Amino acid sequence: ARKYVVKNRFQGIPKRDDFEIVEYELPPIKNGEILVKVEWVSVDPYLRAYHSNYTLPYDQFGYQVGIVEDSKDPRYPVGAKVVAHKGWCDYCIINSANATDFFSKVYKLPNLKGLSQSLGVGAVGMPGATAYFGFLNLCKPKAGETVVVTGAAGAVGSLVGQIAKIKGCRVIGFAGSDDKVKWLEQDLGFDKAFNYKTVDVTSALKSAAPNGVDCYFDNVGGEISSLIINQMNDFGRVSVCGSISSYNDVNNPTATILQPALIGKQIRVEGFIVGRWYDNWSEAFGELTKWIKNGQLKAREHVTEGFENIYDAFIGMLQGENVGKAVIKI
Ligand code: NDP
Repeated sequence: ARKYVVKNRFQGIPKRDDFEIVEYELPPIKNGEILVKVEWVSVDPYLRAYHSNYTLPYDQFGYQVGIVEDSKDPRYPVGAKVVAHKGWCDYCIINSANATDFFSKVYKLPNLKGLSQSLGVGAVGMPGATAYFGFLNLCKPKAGETVVVTGAAGAVGSLVGQIAKIKGCRVIGFAGSDDKVKWLEQDLGFDKAFNYKTVDVTSALKSAAPNGVDCYFDNVGGEISSLIINQMNDFGRVSVCGSISSYNDVNNPTATILQPALIGKQIRVEGFIVGRWYDNWSEAFGELTKWIKNGQLKAREHVTEGFENIYDAFIGMLQGENVGKAVIKI
């Protein structure tokens, strides 16, 4: 089997030399374990954000979809499709019976009604649950309200904007290229989108949201979030999902002062980790699959092929090369 091991502390953007591909012999499985052949691997921003929580060297963690090839856990027989969190490997042994925390849990791939199984690590996986619960439960959007999403062309952001449209909101997105902006407006039905690298965020919002912003789904943090919060209405709601603008920042990120806006406008800001709703993920998966099947939701993927290219896909995602969910076909 092969796996990626992280050898060094990342400085800024992770380097190829920070990883090593290790080949090793898998032992026979024990009671409560399954042997999984990995078919899809997910690269996500938290692989970078959580890096410093791990002691070196460590096996690169992450979500995957695979097929059970050997089993000593009757819940996952040979041939079952599973979603697990073992990471960047082509074959792996998972102790499915004794999950100690949220990340070590394994579950059966949801019924995708014929859609691509890669969605199990995307729109019908952890990122889908993030968009669904993080937006609906924390922003509590009402029809007619104005919603702003940053990281709008990514895995989570593109779903949030479309869910907001399904709920009858007006949606404004910020993303990092003109092509992404075009896709959001022309294919996903965003009412307005902007390239945050080239516009003045405050004037863009003043023109696109003349009545102010009611909900903000924050994927990026940093200065743009302060600028957006300053354009919010009284009793606005902010769902703080991610702060990717700081993950590779070796210096302390600077922030403009936003507390006066939070007080004056009586805004509710709440951060979350999607594992909070783990026991209800299947509810989100059912709704998301239904919306994809009936054409209300597009689940675009940015597919890279080959085990040896996982590193490139990861770095590409951190630098904005992906439109939609970044996945690797093993
Ligand atoms: P994406 O598919 O959105 O990929 C990351 C994107 O971030 C890139 O495509 C890039 O797009 C954008 N980006 C990179 N650097 C910057 C920067 N400096 N400023 C602004 N945007 C930048 O990833 P996900 O949808 O998987 O994740 C989105 C966010 O949600 C992340 O912050 C992630 O950590 C968070 N998250 C949080 C969860 C939770 O439980 N709280 C669960 C899952 C995700 P662009 O071209 O637009 O710059």
